[in-house]
Amino acid sequence: MSKVENFLNAEEEQNIIEAIRLAEKNTSGEIRVHIEKTCKGDAFNRALEVFHYLKMDNTKAQNGVLIYVAVEDKNFVIYGDKGINDVVPKDFWNTTKDVIQQHFKLGHFKQGLVEGILKAGQELEKHFPWHHDDIDELPNDISKG
Ligand code: CA
Ligand code: CA
Repeated sequence: MSKVENFLNAEEEQNIIEAIRLAEKNTSGEIRVHIEKTCKGDAFNRALEVFHYLKMDNTKAQNGVLIYVAVEDKNFVIYGDKGINDVVPKDFWNTTKDVIQQHFKLGHFKQGLVEGILKAGQELEKHFPWHHDDIDELPNDISKG
């Protein structure tokens, strides 16, 4: 088994998917997680590439958020679409990053992602509150590269 498959067990994956569902109850923003073994080159550029590959730019308010994790590199990137970057301060993702980083440092990957996703939902709510006619524009799942 590769490291990607060992990274999260089935139950942990379900916990993460549930966290996405809960987070999206607060915001029209759309959150996804992508996990791969290692990142060749710059992690930010790779996150951008995955973001487009997953068609995450296909939201009405351009408010998709990808949490990209390179398992072996112990690296991650939070990538938000244009609609978010246009209205939030530059340090917008810092609190979410800190939450994830603290857990990752201790090897608590599932917990880091769950709490990071919930935090991202709370942060997004300030700029992109949930509306009663909001739909799930992007699947709440984990993709693996
Ligand atoms: Ca939505
Ligand atoms: Ca969704």
